[in-house]
Amino acid sequence: TPTVGVLALQGDVREHLIALAAADAVARPVRRPEELDEVDALVIPGGESTTMSKLVGVFGLLEPLRERVRAGLPMYGTCAGMIMLADKVLDGRDDQETLGGVDMTVRRNAFGRQNDSFEAAVEVKGVEGGPVDGVFIRAPWVESVGASVDVLAVHDGHTVAVRQGNVLATSFHPELTGDHRIHALFVDMVRER
Ligand code: GLN
Repeated sequence: TPTVGVLALQGDVREHLIALAAADAVARPVRRPEELDEVDALVIPGGESTTMSKLVGVFGLLEPLRERVRAGLPMYGTCAGMIMLADKVLDGRDDQETLGGVDMTVRRNAFGRQNDSFEAAVEVKGVEGGPVDGVFIRAPWVESVGASVDVLAVHDGHTVAVRQGNVLATSFHPELTGDHRIHALFVDMVRER
């Protein structure tokens, strides 16, 4: 059984811990660099990417996390977590840092004001049994991807789920729905590694 950490500086940590446990992983919060050695994979939750970026620096996690993602530690980011895993961010703050890991450019808060939050059925490549209920909360979209990025889902013409190697990212929040198929997909990626 893989042990999957959830970066627990800010955001919807608890919901991911519950979803991971339901997807047959051992789930535990991660706050300190040493704790990265004790997990087989890491989830970066939704929240606020500018705050998360700041806290990652304060907690001394920026370089350790960058090293881990480069070394192939499987990671899954939802919403703000997706932003953290992007090589480039549009409409971010000037001092906003990311870990990178996915050769993509994401646009923060991309779905705009009247659509600040919404739900939509989203068909996700590799997820069987029909579309997932995509919960989008001031969500980013993926503006462009490099050749080695696999686009897993599109909503309204915009990419909202991607995978590159061991890294998975979604604009939306499966951890808020009680449908654990995306977490199960991630746990399978961790097992296959
Ligand atoms: N808009 C937030 C950001 O830029 C993301 C929102 C979320 O994670 N639900 O980080």
